[in-house]
Amino acid sequence: MKHDQKYYQKLKATLQEWNHEYYVLDAPSVSDREYDRVYQELVALETAHPEWIESDSPSRRVGGEVLQGFEKVKRKHRMYSLDNTYDETDLREFDQRIQKVTEMEDLEYVVEPKVDGLSIEVQYNMGLFHLAATRGDGQSGENVTANVATIRSLPLKLQGKNIPDQLTLRGEVYLHRDDLALINEERQAQSLELFKNPRNAAAGSLRLLDSKLTASRPLRVVFYAFVETEGYQTHQQCLKQIKAWGLPSHGEVQVAQNISSLISIIEHKQKDLRQLPFDVDGLVIKVNELSLQKQLGYTSKYPRWAIAYKFETENAVTYVEDIVLQVGRTGVVTPVAVLTPVELAGTTVSRASLHNQDEIAKKDIRIGDQVVIEKAGEIIPQILRVITDLRKKNLSVFSFPKACPSCGEPLSQTPGEVAVRCTNYYGCRAQIQERLRYFCSRKAMNIEHIGPSLIEQLVCELGVRSPADLFLLKEEDLLSLPRMAEKSASNVLGSIESAKQNAQLFSLITAIGIPFVGETAARIVAKKIHSLEYFLKHDVVFWKKDLEELHGVGEKMMTSLIAYFSDPRHLTMIENFKSVGLWPVVENLSNTQDTLGGKSFCVTGTLSLPRDQIKNQILDHGGKWVSTVSKKLDYLVCNQESSSSSKFIKAEKLGIEIISEQMLQSMIGGSS
Ligand code: AMP
Ligand code: ZN
Repeated sequence: MKHDQKYYQKLKATLQEWNHEYYVLDAPSVSDREYDRVYQELVALETAHPEWIESDSPSRRVGGEVLQGFEKVKRKHRMYSLDNTYDETDLREFDQRIQKVTEMEDLEYVVEPKVDGLSIEVQYNMGLFHLAATRGDGQSGENVTANVATIRSLPLKLQGKNIPDQLTLRGEVYLHRDDLALINEERQAQSLELFKNPRNAAAGSLRLLDSKLTASRPLRVVFYAFVETEGYQTHQQCLKQIKAWGLPSHGEVQVAQNISSLISIIEHKQKDLRQLPFDVDGLVIKVNELSLQKQLGYTSKYPRWAIAYKFETENAVTYVEDIVLQVGRTGVVTPVAVLTPVELAGTTVSRASLHNQDEIAKKDIRIGDQVVIEKAGEIIPQILRVITDLRKKNLSVFSFPKACPSCGEPLSQTPGEVAVRCTNYYGCRAQIQERLRYFCSRKAMNIEHIGPSLIEQLVCELGVRSPADLFLLKEEDLLSLPRMAEKSASNVLGSIESAKQNAQLFSLITAIGIPFVGETAARIVAKKIHSLEYFLKHDVVFWKKDLEELHGVGEKMMTSLIAYFSDPRHLTMIENFKSVGLWPVVENLSNTQDTLGGKSFCVTGTLSLPRDQIKNQILDHGGKWVSTVSKKLDYLVCNQESSSSSKFIKAEKLGIEIISEQMLQSMIGGSS
C-alpha cells in the first residue's frame, strides 16, 4: 500500500466522483465492487493516518457516535412555510395580487414539484459540507449534520465555479416509495410499527440520535433554492447553478410565460407527477425574476412570490363499528378499528390500525363515529380525523381495556413507551399462536401446510406451545383433530419434515422473531455464529463482546439479541430445537463465498427454481437481490418466455446485461 497523502487525496477525489455519478447522475462508471475496494483502501489509509481525515471524506457516510439530543441552530435567514391552494381560482387570484404589486402584466413563473419530505437547510463553508438543520420553528431548527452527512447523494464537497465562501441551501429530504416498502417489510418482520408514508419515514430517519441507523436508511435529498442570490437574475439560473455545483436538483423545471400557460402546464404535470417513484403532494409555483421576488417580500408566514398548488389525496368517509385489540407475538397489543367497508383508491377498506392508545386519545376516536380515512402514500389506510360535527350525542370516550383480550391477564406498559403489552409469555394463547404463525410463515421457516386455523387447533386441542413442539407431532395426533383427513395430515407432517431438513440457520434465527432482527441481520448473525450451539456453549459476557463488532448489526439489534438470548425461556426453546433435530449449521463458507462479487441481480418470469431459492443462492454467494430494474442493476435473470415482460423491456432499454438461469448458475459456481 502506498502511504503518501497525495495518493490518499486522489482516492478521496475518485470516490467523490463515483458517488456523484452513482447517486446524482444515476450513471455509475464502475461496479459496486470496484467502489468498495477503493473505499476499503481509503479507510485503511485513514486508520493508519487519522490526521489526514477531513470533513469531506466518504467515510463520514457511515454515521458516527450516538448523540444525546439535537443541538439548536439559530439561522440568519428564516425558513418560511408556503401558502397553498387546491384550485385554479385561487391561483388566478395569486397572479392578480402579484400583477398589482409589481405593476406587470405577464409574469414568468417556475413550476417545480413539491416533494413530500422534510425541509432541510444545508450549509457549505469554502465548498465543504458544514452543517444541516431542520426547519424547526423557522428561526431555529435542530442540528442534524451527522445524519444528513449519511445521505449518499449529498456531496460533501462542491464542484464547479462560483462557489461562495458560505453557501446556505434549502431542500427537502425524502424517500422513494419502493425504499419505504423495503423498510416497512423489515420493520414488519421485527414487529415494529410501520411508517405510514415516506414523509414520516424520512422525518423519523433524520431525527434518529444514532447516525449509523440513519445511514442504513436510503434517504435522498433535493435542493430547490439557496439564500444569498446576488449576481443572479432569475430563480431558474439559481437552479442551474445548484445542479452545476453537483448537488441533486429537480431534473427539468418548467417556466410559464404567464398565468394561462401556467395553468396548462399544471394540468399536464399533474399526471406525470403520479408516475414519479416518490411522493409529491403538489407543485410549487415561484415568480422567476429575483428582483420581483424581493419586491414582493414575505407575509408573517409565507413568501408572497410563491404558492403551493396541492393535489387532493384520495379519502373516504365511513363508520367505526368497533375497536378491537390484536395481540402480537411479542405481546404488544394494537388497537384496530373495524370499519363499515368502503371503497378507497381501488380497494375495499374494512380495517385500519389505530397504532396505540395515545393515537385513539389524540384523535378522540369513538365506536360509532363517522371518520375520514385516507390511504397515506397509498400504503396503509389511516383514520385521518373524526367528523365531530356529525357525532351522535351518546357516544362514550373509548377506554382502553386493562386486560389482555386473549388471556385476561392485566396489561402492562413500560414507562416511556407507548406500547401496551401482555406479559403472559407461556399462558397467552394469542401470543403463542402469533409466534407459531410467524415461525411457519413464508419469510421464516416456510412450513406451507400450517395456516392460522390449523395453528389454533394445534394450540387448543393438542397443547402445542413452542415452535419446537411442532417437530414432535405424530400422525395420530393430527388425525385426532376434527376435519383432518389422512392426506392432509401427511401433507402437514411432510412440510414440517422438509422444513427441518432444509432449514438454514438464518431462517431459523429469523423465525424465532427476535425484535429488530429481520432476515438481513439474521444472515449476518448466522454467518458469525455457525450454529445456535453458540448461545448454549458461551455465556452472555462472552458473546456480547464477541458479537460487538459485527458489521451491519446496530446497537438496537444488539441490545435486543442480548435480551433475547439472556432469557432462559428462549434458551430452553433452543435446547428443544436441538433435541428434535432442528439444528442447522453453517458449514465452512469458503467455497460459497462471494463468487457474485457484490453484483446486483433482478429476476423476471418463472425460472426452474422458486424465486426464494434463487434469491438465497444469490445472497449466499455475495450478490445483491433487487426487485426492480434500474440503471444501477447489473444483471436481469430470465428465461426465454420473459422477453415481453416489462422488466425485460426496461432492462433492454437501459442496456443492462440480460442473462439466463444457466449463466447465473455458472457464475455462482465460479466458472464463466
Ligand atoms: P409547507 O410545509 O406545506 O408550508 O410547505 C413548505 C415546504 O415545502 C418547504 O419548507 C419545503 O420543505 C417544501 N418544499 C418541497 N418542495 C419545494 C420546492 N420545490 N420549493 C419550495 N419548497 C418546497
Ligand atoms: Zn395475553
